[in-house]
Amino acid sequence: MKYAIGIDLGATTAKTGIITDTGKIVDYNLIASNTTDDEHLFINSLSDTITALCRKSNIDRGSIVGIGVGIPKGNFFGGTVEYAQNLTWGRDKVIPFANLLSRSTGIKCLLTNDANAAALGEMQFGVARGMSNFIEITLGTGVGAGVVVDGRLIYGANGMAGELGHCTVRPPDGKSRVCTCGRRDCLETYCSATGVALSGRLQALNTHSQTTLKHYKPEDITAKIVYEEALKGDIVSREIYREAGRLLGEAFAEFAVVFSPEAIVIFGGMAKAKDMFLPSLIDSFGQNFTEAYRLVPKILFSSLPEADAAILGAGSLVLI
Ligand SMILES: [Zn+2]
Repeated sequence: MKYAIGIDLGATTAKTGIITDTGKIVDYNLIASNTTDDEHLFINSLSDTITALCRKSNIDRGSIVGIGVGIPKGNFFGGTVEYAQNLTWGRDKVIPFANLLSRSTGIKCLLTNDANAAALGEMQFGVARGMSNFIEITLGTGVGAGVVVDGRLIYGANGMAGELGHCTVRPPDGKSRVCTCGRRDCLETYCSATGVALSGRLQALNTHSQTTLKHYKPEDITAKIVYEEALKGDIVSREIYREAGRLLGEAFAEFAVVFSPEAIVIFGGMAKAKDMFLPSLIDSFGQNFTEAYRLVPKILFSSLPEADAAILGAGSLVLI
């Protein structure tokens, strides 16, 4: 049995797990990731966590093949974390994170961004098992993507390839939205949880139609609230998800033309709202993708439990 350490590192917590090469999580531990602005102190506490987990699970460090880390702004090339505004110790600098953690633990360490880690986990343990060409789209706070071509994640010249959430779409209402990346009308400004929440707020403020979204303070409206109101039958809320699905379908057709994937796999918190956006997504995908491109990719949802997927994906980095 081979073991790996998988770490899902986010703005507030770091979830560290020992996983097996069959995709089982032996044990895991959570620590806060935002209590210091010194990356060395944080890496030391991560290293202590790994030592404690191994001891508790009675697993010899020698049988661990490596540490894989999924982290926002993580660059596989060089194992760096670059200008990660959401990490208290990672702002405004480039940190050789993989090297530092490897030196501190004595175990090989690789890292990549969180969306790429999700794609690797899907390929190793999820619905993309056995596929050599697929795209994993993570619908969360943003829209992340991992693109696997010919069995390998694509990284491009600088490690940043496949950022499909930052492809632009035609704004549905003719007004544009500025993205965190500085461009206008990126897919994620409409189709992420943040984008759907913004659509909800704008509708609550501006629409002349009747909507239960007007019962909320606009700043309190989240993607979840829009979903709940849609479920209760609010037409305006339903239309927000329908529109997000339409834009996703249009974008998926573009991705399919470029990459010829066997499947596009949807993952992330927003996937829970699929009954509200999937019909329009499928419809718009069908209208925009023609059989001239021959292979019609399947549109699938991740089969990995969300809480485990990030650890499994990160660990996959060193297991593949
Ligand atoms: Zn963008």
